[in-house]
Amino acid sequence: AKGAAMVTAVAYRLTEQARQIQQTMEEFRLSKEQLLEVKKRMRVEIERGLKKSSHEEATVKMLPTFVRRTPDGTENGDFLALDLGGTNFRVLLVKIRSGKKRSVEMHNKIYAIPIEVMQGTGEELFDHIVHCISDFLDYMGMKSARLPLGFTFSFPCHQTSLDAGILVTWTKGFKATDCEGENVVELLRDAIKRKEEFELDVVAIVNDTVGTMMTCAYEEPNCEVGLIAGTGSNACYMEEAKNIEIVEGNEGRMCVNMEWGAFGDNGCLDDIRTTYDQSVDENSLNEGKQRFEKMCSGMYLGEIVRQILLDLTKRGFLFRGQISEALKTRGIFETKFLSQIESDRLALLQVRAILQQLGLDSTCDDSIIVKEVCGTVSRRAAQICGAGMAAVVDKIRENRSLEHLDITVGVDGTLYKLHPHFSRIFHQTLI
Ligand code: BGC
Ligand code: MG
Repeated sequence: AKGAAMVTAVAYRLTEQARQIQQTMEEFRLSKEQLLEVKKRMRVEIERGLKKSSHEEATVKMLPTFVRRTPDGTENGDFLALDLGGTNFRVLLVKIRSGKKRSVEMHNKIYAIPIEVMQGTGEELFDHIVHCISDFLDYMGMKSARLPLGFTFSFPCHQTSLDAGILVTWTKGFKATDCEGENVVELLRDAIKRKEEFELDVVAIVNDTVGTMMTCAYEEPNCEVGLIAGTGSNACYMEEAKNIEIVEGNEGRMCVNMEWGAFGDNGCLDDIRTTYDQSVDENSLNEGKQRFEKMCSGMYLGEIVRQILLDLTKRGFLFRGQISEALKTRGIFETKFLSQIESDRLALLQVRAILQQLGLDSTCDDSIIVKEVCGTVSRRAAQICGAGMAAVVDKIRENRSLEHLDITVGVDGTLYKLHPHFSRIFHQTLI
């Protein structure tokens, strides 16, 4: 009888544990009503960003880009391009030929930006960028050509023209000094001058969302929205000029860089944010900022997972209650690991192997829980991203007084491209 009692006690403890784990996960499971609410609130913030009277204090900034149309195939010439602010820093040479036989040829090289440079002085950062351009031009044998350069700069910028952008604030892992409030095109031009090795004409600065929309529109004229689901999260779309109150002129359209990563910075998402989201925010380089981004982009999903695992371990539900050094390490769960752990083709043994690689000793039960935590966190990310996008396409449909709108969204980003479920759940939420 004593044995039987013990068995029931153990079984009871197990189910109670399972119940508590599920209860933790429950905070991340959003109902249809909650997602519709996210969509509705995004729409409110869109309007606040567009209106002159509320723009100043708006969190979703709706920044004008001075891009007034998408490509039409007449583009022609050789260009250099920089891509700064995503998973990789790249320098590219793009050769575009128009006419009967349209073609685009691209050469590119990836360069590392050491963390000391990302978080050092602005001068060091831009000198490093120019050093990489110099290396690339040598590599291509093009040091003497004076090429036009387009700068894809994946941070919020106040633009007054296509070739001027004042950095509003750094986001993601960047924190170089003396850049916020400065025109980054000038910072780049100054660094090119300091180097005294080559000349370039910096002709445009564009957000990565805008670059993505334009690239997609080159093949797909219907594309008037851009989305990044990568290290960071953001969207842009073609808005009616008359609705962008902070820019003169009412004719035609202009692309607006929404900067939706800052959605929620005024507290409007507090009811769906969990204590884990708050911990991620508190541990970040930019506390209180980019709250939506911190719930749905690659740089932070692993951190949310880690916060949950830490808590479950403290409560004795995981890793035999032992908090390892690995689990205390910020940033261990990169997007690529989450993608691997969540892959359906992976046997539990392989999940354990990945965790082992990260320095986490897991039992079979642990690995089941870890996988479920990852799945729950990335599902919510894809869903709120979909809800945000639903607000955007609705806005465009209403702008055009249509019952029904067919539109293409150009998408890029490691989360969208590498994660096994993100894109599917995003699509399911959008419809
Ligand atoms: C930046 C955006 C960018 C997005 C995706 C965010 O952190 O604020 O400008 O588009 O990341 O890279
Ligand atoms: Mg990118």
